[in-house]
Order: sequence, then C-alpha cells, then structure tokens
Amino acid sequence: MPVSRGKTSCFTLWSGIPRVIGVELTYLSGQMALSDLLTLTPAGLYCPVADVHIDPVRPVPRALITHGHSDHARAGHAQVLATRETLAIMGLRYGAQFCQSQQALAYGERVGLNGIDVSFHPAGHVLGSAQIRLQGPSGCVVVSGDYKRAYDPTCAPFELVRCDAFVTEATFGLPVFRHPDAVGEVAKLLRSCALFPERAHLVGAYSLGKAQRVMKLLRLAGWDRPIWIHGALEKITQFYQSEGIDLGDIRKVSAADRATLAGEMIICPPGQLADLWSRKFPDPVTAFASGWMRVRARARQRGIELPLVISDHVDWDDLCATITETGASEIWVTHGAEEAIVHWCQSRGLDARPLNILGYGDEEADTSSEGEA
Ligand SMILES: [Zn+2]
Repeated sequence: MPVSRGKTSCFTLWSGIPRVIGVELTYLSGQMALSDLLTLTPAGLYCPVADVHIDPVRPVPRALITHGHSDHARAGHAQVLATRETLAIMGLRYGAQFCQSQQALAYGERVGLNGIDVSFHPAGHVLGSAQIRLQGPSGCVVVSGDYKRAYDPTCAPFELVRCDAFVTEATFGLPVFRHPDAVGEVAKLLRSCALFPERAHLVGAYSLGKAQRVMKLLRLAGWDRPIWIHGALEKITQFYQSEGIDLGDIRKVSAADRATLAGEMIICPPGQLADLWSRKFPDPVTAFASGWMRVRARARQRGIELPLVISDHVDWDDLCATITETGASEIWVTHGAEEAIVHWCQSRGLDARPLNILGYGDEEADTSSEGEA
C-alpha cells in the first residue's frame, strides 16, 4: 500500500493531474505494462503519475536524484528530493542555491507522490548514492542509478530490491569486465611505494567517491603517513570525514614543496596526471584507479605506469547476478555497453531494451581537471 508521510514537504504538496506529454510518452507507450510508472522523455526518465523525473539531464520542476556525480545531479531543478548526503554534495558543488527547494529522504523512508510510493535504497556507488523504488498499482520499478556490489568502506552497501522492472546502468556491461578485489589493487600501490621510496606516487582518482575509497583502503591496509591531495578533492574529502569516514591525516599538496614528496602518496583528479602540475614531484609513478584500467591499451594511451582496476560500478558478473536476483521481468538499460546485456537478458526470456539516454557520462573516464581549489 502506498504510504504518504504526514509531514508537509515540497513533494507531498505536489498535486494536480499528471501531464500527458504527447510525443514523448509514445516512445514507450503500448510496449510496457509499467509505462504509467516510468517512461522516457527528452529530459530523462519520468514517472507520469508522480510527475517527477529521475536524474534529469535538463532542468525540470521536480527531480529525484540518485547520487551526486555531475551527470546525474545537475543544478537548476525547481524541487529536488534526494538523500541528505546527495543534497549536501550538490550544495558543495553548485552552491546552496542549486534548486529552489529540497527535501531529504533517508534510506528506506517512504514518501507518497500522487499515489506512487517512493523510497530510496543504498546503491553502494558513492556516499549517499541510492536506487529509487517506485511502487504503484500496476507494479514496482527500481531505477538503480550507478551501483556496485563490491566492498567499499566509504558508503552503505548495495541493497537488493525486488521489483517488476529494473532500470540498470551498464557502464562495464561486457563479459571482459570482471573487476578484481580493490584491496588487492591497493596492495599493488603499497608494494610499488615500498619498492621505489625515492619516487612520489601519484594516483588519479575521480574526486567524488573513488578518491575517498582509495584513501580509506590505504588506511585499512596500514598506510599511516599523511595522504596528500590536490585542492580539487578537498571539499568532498572533508565532507566524507565530517560524515564519520575516518581518512586520517589528509594534507593539501599546495601547502608543501612538491620536490620534497618522495615516497609519499598523492591523490589527484585524473586530468592532473598529464598536467604540468604532476611533473614537479620527484620522479612520479603515475597510477590511475578506474575500471577502465582493465583495458591495457587505455592505460598505455594515458601513459599510466601503474593501472589500478578499482571501479565504483558493477562488473559483468554482478550486473547479471543483480538482474536475476531482482526478479524483474523487464530490464531497461540506461547507459554504457547496452547491447550486450540486453542480448543476455533476452536470451533468458526477459523483456529488455536499451534506453539510449543522452547526457549520462562516465565519471570513471573523466580526464578533466577540476582546478586547484
Ligand atoms: Zn556515478
């Protein structure tokens, strides 16, 4: 039964007749039994009954946001519903005025939107990341956002949510992608540090999630020296620490003379590895923590000396296992290597299709420099 909270909020105040959006709804209409719960519009996934978009790629009146990565969490929506952590991350990235009104929803808490029961469940991707569950009279849809099932001591573990239709990412949706244990990858980094104490170790890692996961894994593996960071990682890293994730002694590179950082561990946005910034360290070993490091040609192209296959997305095995375990009979694939997983689903009698949503990027492939803040 749908449950509405008694508390007044921007979301429970939403009312009115669901908009019919003509041509956009025809994209999937007649094909899906659950199209009243979820369909596709130019702005992204949309629930017509609740009149809300999920991770829209352009400004909308009402948005549910799965997590803080910038391709999913954009500024400019009127009303935003997300976990408290995701709202805080959006505030850090875009400023307090990133939307007109916001409401936090805790994992497992339920809110009723025009008769649709909405709840958020841990996605195991980054701090605050959530899968979004929509329950209506015709069934239940879960939108995964980005997710992983591998060990990550910096966020709540993925929770399996059974549903009728499952919207999954497929960033690494090819059988070649089988991620190794991240603990073992960090052990490689530590071995390199022990072997080359005269060299700085420079680790490229995306600024939200991956960087803090690498820091925490280093701590758990016994690295107790200061960890040096590029200024672009400072705000998010401080936020993780303020949320009780103990990352130890974190220092900004800008406070030090880079020439003195031999034998030290330095974490920076991936784009900085090829930048002039990186050349002032003593004979740096360049490492990059990404699922894409499974592809050796990518590591070579980037001049990465020490590829670390550490991903915040499901690999092929976990993707297939998750689809099976949800019990869903309809699978919609939002981004990544869509065709392979669609074929895998269809060969097992599941109704599957690629959604080809434009606008979702891939933070693991990000090479941009976010600038020294
Ligand atoms: Zn993400």
